[in-house]
Amino acid sequence: MKKIVILTGAGISAESGLGTFRDAGGIWSQYDLENVATPAGFARNPSLVHGFYNARRANALAARPNAAHRALARLERDWPGEVILVTQNIDDLHERAGHARVIHMHGELMGATCAACGAHWEAPREMRAADPCPECGEPKTRPDVVWFGEMPYDPQFPK
Ligand SMILES: [Zn+2]
Repeated sequence: MKKIVILTGAGISAESGLGTFRDAGGIWSQYDLENVATPAGFARNPSLVHGFYNARRANALAARPNAAHRALARLERDWPGEVILVTQNIDDLHERAGHARVIHMHGELMGATCAACGAHWEAPREMRAADPCPECGEPKTRPDVVWFGEMPYDPQFPK
């Protein structure tokens, strides 16, 4: 049975009202990516970075999957072979459209991770720099997203 591999990016969520990153007027024209999407930026000012991703998370929670997300979920359901959906998006609109298995190569807004021990858990709506890790207790929690200069997640090596 044939496999279908699909790669989606920011464009598919733009229709749901989530801004694309690179376009004029996109998110990166309003923020300096060096400050909000790099390990060095997080080390300098974790509260700024958490504020940025708390706003992204609120936007994503307010957005709804669109016809393209729903069509891909239908394809996964109806295709007799395997459908592998890889997304660069950190929102959860594919899942909320009903897609069962989504590979988030750039991580997930709705996830949190610990920079000290590598634990992963579901992010609260509002993350703060002082939040302790539920595993090791260190105040090193960060959004579970892949920043510039970091390696994309590889589903061959589950986190
Ligand atoms: Zn930890």
